[in-house]
Formats: sequence, structure tokens, C-alpha cells
Amino acid sequence: MKGTFPIDKFERVQTPFYYYDTKLLRKTLQAINAEISKHEGFVVHYAIKANANAKLLRIIQEAGLGADCVSGGEIETAVKSGFHSSKIVFAGVGKSDWEINLGLDHDIFCFNVESIPELEVINLLAKQRNVIARVAFRLNPNVGAHTHANITTGLAENKFGIAMRDMMTVMLHAQQLTNVKVVGLHFHIGSQILDMGDFEALCNRVNELQTILLNHRICLEHINVGGGLGIDYEHPNRVPIPDFKAYFDTYAKKLKLQPQQTLHFELGRAVVAQCGSLITKTLYVKEGSTKRFAIVDAGFTDLIRPALYQAYHKIENIMSNEPMEPYDVVGPICESTDVFAKQIDLNHTQRGDLLAIRSAGAYGEIMASQYNCRKLPQGYTSDEFIS
Ligand SMILES: *Cc1c(COP(=O)(O)O)cnc(C)c1O
Repeated sequence: MKGTFPIDKFERVQTPFYYYDTKLLRKTLQAINAEISKHEGFVVHYAIKANANAKLLRIIQEAGLGADCVSGGEIETAVKSGFHSSKIVFAGVGKSDWEINLGLDHDIFCFNVESIPELEVINLLAKQRNVIARVAFRLNPNVGAHTHANITTGLAENKFGIAMRDMMTVMLHAQQLTNVKVVGLHFHIGSQILDMGDFEALCNRVNELQTILLNHRICLEHINVGGGLGIDYEHPNRVPIPDFKAYFDTYAKKLKLQPQQTLHFELGRAVVAQCGSLITKTLYVKEGSTKRFAIVDAGFTDLIRPALYQAYHKIENIMSNEPMEPYDVVGPICESTDVFAKQIDLNHTQRGDLLAIRSAGAYGEIMASQYNCRKLPQGYTSDEFIS
């Protein structure tokens, strides 16, 4: 056992695989619940797209969180994992008819609507079923986030949401429709955000928009500010749980809720990232002309974040205590981007050593692909290795 990994038990399973520390997941969920219990009307939905592993979903559902879905498949997965449909929200710029019908049949809490054509289709499908769909408008707040350009979503140039200047138009349009009820406003400005100032900017924007609505005597049941809270990829051991206090306090201080209004959050990464590691075996150590490569059996088919947006993941050799040396850690896939890290220090590594690629619980297993006809990585929880 090195660190918190039961490596003696890891022999039983095929590498690469995801290892989830359920104790840390439970602690993270407790931290969230402890913070929101201090604030009236705060509700947290877990963004399923970060990780849909059934064993994790069960734990998250049992902690009382709702579900944030972005596809019909995610709605089915959420329901199967025990999330009550009254706690399911459904977002996405391109909802197809069957997905909307699925949401209507389950009578989900809310559709987060991103355009007028979508609103009309929801109204039509709801009418065919003789039901009223609860909807929130996803507005594009034109708030930048200090994060990677590929994961900022709240700028006017992004495809997401309805432009702010169209807010009253869509509100009034919805009032003409018989089978939708507008219950909220929805926002989501991006992911891996660590600067509370970005969330503060969103709060200021929401306050401005609410003032306009109140001037038109419109008060909605809820505000949904999406997710995006980041985690510390550099220090998974020192900072295993994100600063939920700073995050929720920012909203409590800066966002002016109306009486009876609830405030919804959709956290993905912050809930699951730190509890997961990708465990991979060193196949070969190759001395290049200028570099030393640790060639491992995981590739970007198992964890695409480094290849997709140059994401940093801390990597540890969990079997060696020998002196540190620099390595490039690379996968077996026939693409030059199949690199997990360049020039990082690892304890002296040899064939057979297991490496842990840390903070991989979010946007890891769920984004795995079968390129090169590779097998999908399995996910195991720490509970499965006890005995
Ligand atoms: C992806 C997404 C989230 C979750 O984002 P995180 O950065 O993982 O917290 C929340 N809401 C919506 C609409 C999303 O698309």
C-alpha cells in the first residue's frame, strides 16, 4: 500500500482501469451538504456528464443531490440510478423529440430551454400528451470565465443559451403558449473555474436580469446558476475537497434571491474529479535520444483530457520509492497527441510498475472511446477491493 491505493489487490484486475475512492466521494458530498444547509433554498444537482458510473451515481443520489442531464440517455441513467424525476433538470442546445418526450413522460423538474424553436417543440409535444412542461430559459450572460477557451460557455460567441437582450421576448412568447410554464432562469458559464470573481460576475448579471423581470412583474420560482467550480489538479493529496464554502458563500452574498425563490446549482467536476484515478501499467521504459519515455497501457481512449485540452494531471508511480527522474508518460495509441505528461518527475520506473493518473474522476471514464479497437476501461470502487 502506497498512499491510499490498495496496490496488492490491484493485481486482480486488468489495467488500465479507473479506481474510485468512495470514502473521499462521501466526504465531498458531506461537505456540499454541510455548506448548502447554511443557506435557505439552495439545491444541488449533480451533472451526470462528468461521470455516469452506476456505483458513483448511487452514492450521489443517496446523498440527496438531484441530477442535471444533457441527453435522453442521461435521463434514463439518472432514473435507473434512483434519482427522483422531480429532481432532474434537462439542458442542451439540441434536444431531439424522443428526448423531450422522455422528459415529459418522466415529468422531470425542468427543461432548460436554449432557443425559441426548442420552446415551440416542447410546447407542441407537451400538448400532444396533454401535459404542461416546466421550463427555464438558459440565458447567455456574456460572462467570461478564467479557464481554458474550450470549456468556457457563457460568452456571447458560444453556441449556448439565449441572448440576454431577447429575454423579455422569449418570456412574452412563452406566455402565449398553452403547454409550457416558465419556472426559472438558467445559466452556466464554463468549467474548472477557481476564481470566485467569475461567479460574482454571474451573480451581478443575474441581479440585473431579475430587476428587468421584476419591472415586468415577473418573479420566477428558481434561478439555476449551473456548475463550473474547479478542483486543484496540482495537489490532489493536499486539496482533495474543493472550497465549497467560498463557492456557496459567494452566491449567498452576491445573488439577490427573491422571497421563496430557490437557487439551483449543477456541479459535476467538483463532486467526482478528485475521487478517481486512472491506474495504468508501465509496459516499457524507452531511452530516447533526448528523453526517457514511460510507455503505459492507458491511452487517450481512456482519458482524453490531456490530448483534448492540454489538461494537467498529476501522475505518481505507486509502486516505486526509488529516486525521482524525469519522464514523458505516453500511451500506445498511434497519434502524437497520446501523451499524458512531458518532463515530469516520477520515482525510478520499470516495466510492470503501476502509475496513478490522479484527479481523473470527472470527464475521464465517461469520455472513453474505442479508437484503435481498444477495450473500454472498467471502473472499480474502493469498496470492491476490500476483503
Ligand atoms: C457540464 C455542465 C455542468 C457541469 O459542469 P462542471 O464544470 O463539471 O461543474 C453544469 N451544467 C451544465 C448545463 C453543463 O453543461
